[in-house]
Amino acid sequence: MKRFSKTLNGDDPSKYSDSGTRNALTDPDRNPGLSPMRVMGIFIACLILFSVLFSINVVLRDPPSDAVHEASKNRVLEVEPRKSSEDQFLDPEEVPKDKLLGGLLAAGFDEGSCASRYQSASYRKEMPHEPSSYLLSRLRSYEALHKRCGPNTESYKKAVEQLKSGRHPTSLDCNYVVWISYSGLGNRILTLASAFLYALLTNRVLLVDPGVDMVDLFCEPFPEASWFLPMDFPLKNQFGSLNQKSAHCYGEMVRKSNLTNTDQSLLSSFVYLHLSHDYNDQDKLFFCDQDQDFLEKIPWLIVRTDNYFVPSLFLIPSFEQELGNLFPRKETVFHFLGRYLFHPTNVVWGLITRYYQAYLAKADERIGIQIRVFDTGTGPFQHVFDQILSCALKENLLPETNGQDLIVTPSGTLKSKAVLITSLSSGYLEKLRDMYWEHPTVTGEVIGIYQPSHEEYQQTEKHAHNRKAWAEMYLLSLTDMLITSSWSTFGYVAQSLGGLTPWILYKPENRTAPDPACKQAMSMEPCFHAPPFYDCKAKTGVDTGALVPHVRHCEDMSWGLKLIDRSDEF
Ligand code: GDP
Repeated sequence: MKRFSKTLNGDDPSKYSDSGTRNALTDPDRNPGLSPMRVMGIFIACLILFSVLFSINVVLRDPPSDAVHEASKNRVLEVEPRKSSEDQFLDPEEVPKDKLLGGLLAAGFDEGSCASRYQSASYRKEMPHEPSSYLLSRLRSYEALHKRCGPNTESYKKAVEQLKSGRHPTSLDCNYVVWISYSGLGNRILTLASAFLYALLTNRVLLVDPGVDMVDLFCEPFPEASWFLPMDFPLKNQFGSLNQKSAHCYGEMVRKSNLTNTDQSLLSSFVYLHLSHDYNDQDKLFFCDQDQDFLEKIPWLIVRTDNYFVPSLFLIPSFEQELGNLFPRKETVFHFLGRYLFHPTNVVWGLITRYYQAYLAKADERIGIQIRVFDTGTGPFQHVFDQILSCALKENLLPETNGQDLIVTPSGTLKSKAVLITSLSSGYLEKLRDMYWEHPTVTGEVIGIYQPSHEEYQQTEKHAHNRKAWAEMYLLSLTDMLITSSWSTFGYVAQSLGGLTPWILYKPENRTAPDPACKQAMSMEPCFHAPPFYDCKAKTGVDTGALVPHVRHCEDMSWGLKLIDRSDEF
């Protein structure tokens, strides 16, 4: 103790050796024979000896090879400031915190097979919110469950045998939710996150139908066990024919039998959940606690949905507490689940990083503009361009141009803004680029306009098309400020992944730019476009957007629902 603390008389303890005595070499009082002059003499002699040895070494050696260059480069690295004593004792298992996104990601994945997983942090700003420790612990326990019950495990084989037999099992140690690949890419990303949250809440294992391109687009999110449904899954060939009329469709089961959910004769080895936009009142009973009690007993749930149904899970009383613990901040649901689940494969990561480095990295500020036009016709439309410009100028996202002067000489350093446009049409890019080329900005800012692709129309079944779509959603999520289009899941994915609260362009009516053109969203969460309006207890219709402060109607769709953390009206 004494050796490392200040001495009573205030001396610096570094003056003392381990034995507690003062250092004879540096202490002239203790060693009168070593005067300052003599110390200086010894030092100069050492210097001369060292430089002679160094010269002999250089003269005798061959001309420096590349290897020597490499070695000297490495030596430069070695003289980096030494780590603090704490760093020197880092657990080898420990990886820098931001690389694991605040503990959201598990350590230990092979980095080369999915570069985006651990590199994404270096392309993003600090996470605006921290995941709760409870969410982290539930993710780790989910990973353990997935490893125990995932494809090719004994439990999986047993459950599949049971499924093939068609009988309802008395008990199984693993239950599953199987997600059918369906709809556009933005929709798929949102529905997969919804299905994962449902799996977390109900202790089920999520298995993903690979569809035509899911393997091409997304890395495996769970360590040591695949999330993809094996090709020989017994119901695989039936996915295409499962619909609302199927005998195993939950809504149809309820409608036909008109039975209560406690009726054991309804129990079967699997149930198909039809949760897509055209679902009926019986299908919507999925969002009632009583029906969840029944579904809990079914080992295999097969779900088809094109909707982000998370907001309605928050209205199921039995999930309320758990959801509150997982997400103390409600608007972070997709933000965290999205960053946890969706890692672009290397081929997509190449598209993202090359584009980012070439066009976006050097700008002082990045502004994303996501343009999705649901009108018929290919565009570009003048009213859409007017609306975007009006929004960007009014909200100070982009500077005005100077129509008078040909040259504006700004004072100080020029600030650069990179505008990333995503659109199926190239027309908006051309108009905006011409505008900022032909006129100077009033602020002197330098505006670059970039658009990675213009695919003209949606081509959901094409690999290269969907890779670009995924890369573009991700690039938008790397911007600092974002303008999005109403109703678009493409934009929702970008905003939530990026932790951005976007300015949403109101939906134009009659091909006219609305006034105001846009408004900043209440939260970064996606909108559930087709929620149920049903009070399960009272068995009557109810406005589900007015029941609790954190589930409100969306800014861009008056009947949609979204999660928010503040309840002031939009
Ligand atoms: P939503 O229809 O806007 O909700 O978004 P989805 O992603 O579900 O479906 C639209 C699909 O159209 C995308 O997945 C892409 O295939 C295509 N698409 C729409 N906008 C763009 C765009 O700006 N860039 C690219 N590359 N594709 C787009």
